[in-house]
Amino acid sequence: MIKLYNTLTRKKEAFKPIVKGKVGIYTCGPTVYWYQHIGNLRSYIFSDILRRVLEFNNLKVKHIINVTDVGHLTSDSDEGDDKMELAVLKEGRTAKEIANFYFNEFVEDFERLNILKPLKWAWASKHIGEQIELIKILEKKGFTYKTSDGIYFDSSKFKNYGKLAKLNVKGLKEGKRVSVGEKKNKTDFALWKFSLNLGERQQEWKSPWGIGFPGWHLECSAMSMKYLGNIIDIHTGGEDHIPVHHTNEIAQSECVTGKKFVNFWIHGAFLLNGDGKKVSKSTGGLYRVSELEEKGYSAPTFRYLCLQTHYRKPLKFSLDSLDASKNAYDKIKRRIIELRKEKHKGIDRTKSYLNDFLKAINDDLNTSRALEVFWKVLDDRDFDVEKKLKLLEKFDEIFGLGIKNMKKEDLKIPEDILKLVNERDKARNEMDWVRADILRKKINEKGFIVEDVSGKSVLRKKTDIA
Ligand code: AMP
Ligand code: ZN
Repeated sequence: MIKLYNTLTRKKEAFKPIVKGKVGIYTCGPTVYWYQHIGNLRSYIFSDILRRVLEFNNLKVKHIINVTDVGHLTSDSDEGDDKMELAVLKEGRTAKEIANFYFNEFVEDFERLNILKPLKWAWASKHIGEQIELIKILEKKGFTYKTSDGIYFDSSKFKNYGKLAKLNVKGLKEGKRVSVGEKKNKTDFALWKFSLNLGERQQEWKSPWGIGFPGWHLECSAMSMKYLGNIIDIHTGGEDHIPVHHTNEIAQSECVTGKKFVNFWIHGAFLLNGDGKKVSKSTGGLYRVSELEEKGYSAPTFRYLCLQTHYRKPLKFSLDSLDASKNAYDKIKRRIIELRKEKHKGIDRTKSYLNDFLKAINDDLNTSRALEVFWKVLDDRDFDVEKKLKLLEKFDEIFGLGIKNMKKEDLKIPEDILKLVNERDKARNEMDWVRADILRKKINEKGFIVEDVSGKSVLRKKTDIA
C-alpha cells in the first residue's frame, strides 16, 4: 500500500488509482522566461521520485508536465505584466525564441539530474482552442463576467472556493486589503485578458470576447483534462501554488465538469536560501545546476542532497550542505566500484532489506529513511556481494543516482579536449574573456569541466549518470 499526503485533506491517505494499475500525474511546469534554478528543480526531483515510487509498485504512469509560455503575470493573481512579454522587451528576441531557449536549458537540467521526462510536455500556447472552449462552458453556466480588461471567473459562485488552501474567503472579502478594481471579489481571477493595445504584444489570439490571451491558471485545467481526463489521480507542484494557482484550477475545472477535479494534490516544500529566505526566479538568489557544476559539484550531488530531506520539509540550501552531500555521494561511488571487484559469497538478506525499503518509500516518499536502508545494505559485510549490488541497483530505480554506471572515471583526457583547453589558456592570456568563455562552454558540452585554480586550468570529467 502506498500512502501519500494529500493537501486537500491534510492527511496521509492510501493511494488508489481511478483505473486499476494506471496513474495519471499532472505536474505544474516551468514558466520559460528565464532559467530554472535549483529551487524549481527540487520540485521536479520530488515529482520524479513520486513517479518512480509508483512505477516501482508496478503502476503504469502517464506523466504530463506543462510549459507556460504565455499568460503568467508578474504576480500570480493577475497583476503586473506577462513575464514572457517582459522578457521580449528585455532580451530583444521573439517570445518563441525565448521560450525555446529556456525550455531547452530546462530539459538539459532534467537530463543532468536524471529526472525522467514526461510522456508529454504540454505547451500553453499550443492549447489556446481548448482554453477558449472551457471559458465558453463557464460563460454558459453563468460563472463569468466581463471587465474592461478581460473575462473573469466569479469565485463567489463556487461554494467550495478556497477549500484546498483552507482560505477564509469571507475574511478576505470583508478585509478587502487589496483593491479589487473592477473585480467583483478579491479572489476572482482572469480567464481571458484583452490585448489593450492591439499589436503591442507578441502573443495574442482571437476569441469570442476579443483579441487577447488566456489567464495563467486556465492552461493547467485545459491540458490536464485533455491528456488525463476530467478527473485526475494526482496533481503536483510547489507549495506556493496552493493558495492561488491550484485553488483557481479547482474552481474553474469543477465548475466546468461538475465533478471533483483531482483526487490527490501533492505539494513540494521550497528550497530556501541558507538564511531561510524564500527565493524565486524573479528575485534571483539560487544557483542553476550548471553554476553548481562550475563550482565542482556534479548534478547527482544536488539530487542526493534533495533525497536526504523529506519533500514536504523546507530545505535550507548552502554550499556547506552540498559539500557534505558530495562527500557522501563520492563515498557511495568508491564503495560501489570496490564492491564490483569483490567476489565473496554471503547471506542473502534481499527480502528483508527490500521490505524495509518499500516501507520507507511507500510511506509518503520517505527518501531519507530509504537512504538509511541503502547505507545499511552498503555496510553489511555478511551480505552476499552479488545480491547486494543487485539490490542497491534496484534501490537506485528510485534514487536515480546512476549506480549502474558508476565507474572509475576515465582519467585519460581526449586530444580534442586538450586542444580546446590550450586554446582557452591562450585566449585568457590575451584577455579575450568572451572567447575563453565560449571555449569553456564547448569543453563543458563535451563532458568536461575546466576550472581556474591559482591561474591554472584544472580539468575534470563531469559525473556520468546517463
Ligand atoms: P515557475 O517556473 O516559477 O512557474 O516555477 C516552476 C516550479 O517551481 C513550480 O512548481 C514552483 O512551485 C516551483 N518553485 C519555485 N520556487 C521554488 C523553490 N525555491 N523551491 C522549490 N520549488 C520552487
Ligand atoms: Zn499549473
